[in-house]
Amino acid sequence: VSTKYSCIVADPAWSFGDKLGKRGADANYKTMTVDEIRGLARWRGSEDLHDKTPPFLAMCGKRFAIADDALLFLWRVASMPQEALDVIRYWGFEPKSEIVWIKAASEHDAKVTGGKRDGDRVKTHTLHFGMGRYVRGAHETCIIAARGQATALVRNHSTRSVFIAPVPRDVKGKIIHSAKPPEFYEIVEALSCGPRLELFAREGRPGWTSAGNAVGVVKTPAPRCVECGKKQFRTPSGLTCKNGHGDAPSLQQYEVWSEGFRATGEHGRAQQHGKVRALSFKDACHGVFSGDGDFDEDKMTYWGCKLFDNERDARRAFG
Ligand SMILES: [Zn+2]
Repeated sequence: VSTKYSCIVADPAWSFGDKLGKRGADANYKTMTVDEIRGLARWRGSEDLHDKTPPFLAMCGKRFAIADDALLFLWRVASMPQEALDVIRYWGFEPKSEIVWIKAASEHDAKVTGGKRDGDRVKTHTLHFGMGRYVRGAHETCIIAARGQATALVRNHSTRSVFIAPVPRDVKGKIIHSAKPPEFYEIVEALSCGPRLELFAREGRPGWTSAGNAVGVVKTPAPRCVECGKKQFRTPSGLTCKNGHGDAPSLQQYEVWSEGFRATGEHGRAQQHGKVRALSFKDACHGVFSGDGDFDEDKMTYWGCKLFDNERDARRAFG
């Protein structure tokens, strides 16, 4: 049985067709046209017109199966938003949201960046001075796309859409072209469930299958808990295992209960909606009711019924 990947990161080597000469991506390594990037999608045998959803993505001579429910994190370039959307849809995903990386000029600046004002001007010297014909690139955008019931794969609902991190540099301090910072992978790991695949990868990563010209295809085992030996996974507050060891002790098991329907004149009794590990009861509710518009986060109700983290209180409230 081959692995079906439900978390896929891709940072395509977009070809800009830049008339300014060899700069950026083109100067550093072989780029691909939009057709070539789209063409990573593979069907079983010949393309079946009745099933437009590709079951595989191919790289380095290998095919990687895509799970029916999967999230795709695809980096785009500012000048080619439409091309990125085309690739996403051709690969069988629908764009849903995006993550923006604010590129700080240095590690120190990553802490202080945030548009400090100097008189009537916003100082931007703490931001990276990148390329660009109109404005100097100080951010990059990663589109989040989904297929199937992908909201069920979202493991926590407190992830912010923006993060600030310095541009990755090598040991000599030289910027590593187009490399994405470790903070990005930490966000992806805390946000979504595996198995995980990175296309256009530059290096292996624990718990990931990585494919790209720089590494070939490497499958790196997930980190193991030193206390119990179980696989570790990332949460918004750090690494943990299924026994709750590690540096994320705040992750707890929550039960989500709602009171009965007496308030609305019906006779339903208090019921349990689910059990999840989460940072807070609110996060647990988001996990249990993910995408269900009848969950009201402000009032902490479901269909107007109050939510509780235990059976006793739920029954006391209404049946
Ligand atoms: Zn453990």
